[in-house]
Amino acid sequence: MTQPVQDQGNPSRLPPAFLERDGTQRPADHYDAPQLTADHGPVQFHVMAKPVGAICNLDCTYCFYLHKERSPAGLGRGRMSEATLELFIRQYIEGVTGTEVTFTWQGGEPALRGLDFYRRAVALQKQYARPGQVIQNDLQTNGTLLDDEWCAFLKENRFLVGLSIDGPRAVHDQYRVTRRQQPTFDSVMQAVSRLRKFGVPFNTLTCVHRRNARQPIDIYRFLRDEVGSTYMQFTPVVEYRGFDQRSVSANRALLQPQESDPESRPGHVNSVVTEWSVDPEDWGYFLCRLFDRWVARDLGKIYVNQFETLVAQHLDLPSHLCVYSEHCGKGVAVEHDGSIYACDHFVYPEYKIGHLQESSLRQAVLSRDQVKFGYAKRESLPQVCHACPYLSDCWGECPKNRILSSASGEPGLNYLCRGLKQFYTHALPHVERIAAGLRNQPISQGRRM
Ligand code: SF4
Ligand code: SF4
Repeated sequence: MTQPVQDQGNPSRLPPAFLERDGTQRPADHYDAPQLTADHGPVQFHVMAKPVGAICNLDCTYCFYLHKERSPAGLGRGRMSEATLELFIRQYIEGVTGTEVTFTWQGGEPALRGLDFYRRAVALQKQYARPGQVIQNDLQTNGTLLDDEWCAFLKENRFLVGLSIDGPRAVHDQYRVTRRQQPTFDSVMQAVSRLRKFGVPFNTLTCVHRRNARQPIDIYRFLRDEVGSTYMQFTPVVEYRGFDQRSVSANRALLQPQESDPESRPGHVNSVVTEWSVDPEDWGYFLCRLFDRWVARDLGKIYVNQFETLVAQHLDLPSHLCVYSEHCGKGVAVEHDGSIYACDHFVYPEYKIGHLQESSLRQAVLSRDQVKFGYAKRESLPQVCHACPYLSDCWGECPKNRILSSASGEPGLNYLCRGLKQFYTHALPHVERIAAGLRNQPISQGRRM
């Protein structure tokens, strides 16, 4: 761990140098700034916790996390102990300066850790919360284990549930199957009924992949009318081939095809992505059709993550989604054994930034490695992004998806680029109009879109 060299003469000035572990000094630079200024301003970050690591009762074809249980570079099987849980909760609550702390429980399937674990978590949160601090809990689940006892607990403790559901039966069961390859649609719909019966608030999390991306309206209607979702999150499924063995940065050493190459599309024998990854043009199609429907009928009534964040950006507010932010690095993953990783999508050995037992969450988030990781989102953009009219909306999307080369041969172009451009070209005139309307709206009327 690097240490700031203290400036004893004037504590309000940033220390000019860092003392490295080996005793050498070097000038401080912008990667040190968050650590050097942390004591003088707010520190905000978000943690996704994995109480059972990658263990899941389902075997969804496209899951990007399941392999971590089995692969040599993975984390193996394991459950978060009560001691690690307490360390995590204390460090998270102590580490942030805001009045709100959101715990996101994810997996694998986090419900496999059992209700008693979460009862203990809630008790520890109450024990460590500072006066006035609001603690929130999100459970991201496949829903199949949520019985009445679970739902009563979730309601009583004000959990927000993120329920994975991909669309109507045939769409959902395409990839979301049990370990015996059996469909799961019915048990997820039972969870929907229970959540509604108990009044547990829930969002829907829908993966858009190669097989459902041409059905945006069917999926949207189903989620709105049959599931009763008013808060929809859509995520494009993109996995480069070999993601289960190595991180995307290790993959960069390999050839990156250009957008015009057939290998840049799913389904090709030498494709750069898995066969279930969404085709970039289909992602553009999905967003455009969905946007039209949302604007025509549901603007202000249904929250769709991809659209609300774009409107927010055009109101000069920060993006709600890390993928459309200029930098990343403020959302880390804590595994069952207490190891801390740069991001949920970068749980690979070279992206381990700390361990709850060895340092602290706050130190890990402010560490030079993590800040570099976050700044790289902007600093590694190819020239074609810098010249792009949609740069401030897109910011090159997620670095994990930057697996193509630009026409000039520069690596690091986002796989989804052509679909994103299609969407921005289509939606931005409407978004500008919506944003202009909201700017003129008195604050008292509320500004939810
Ligand atoms: S790597 Fe991707 S998912 Fe992770 S924080 Fe950055 S933008 Fe978000
Ligand atoms: S739309 Fe394409 S070129 Fe433009 S910023 Fe996004 S990834 Fe880069």
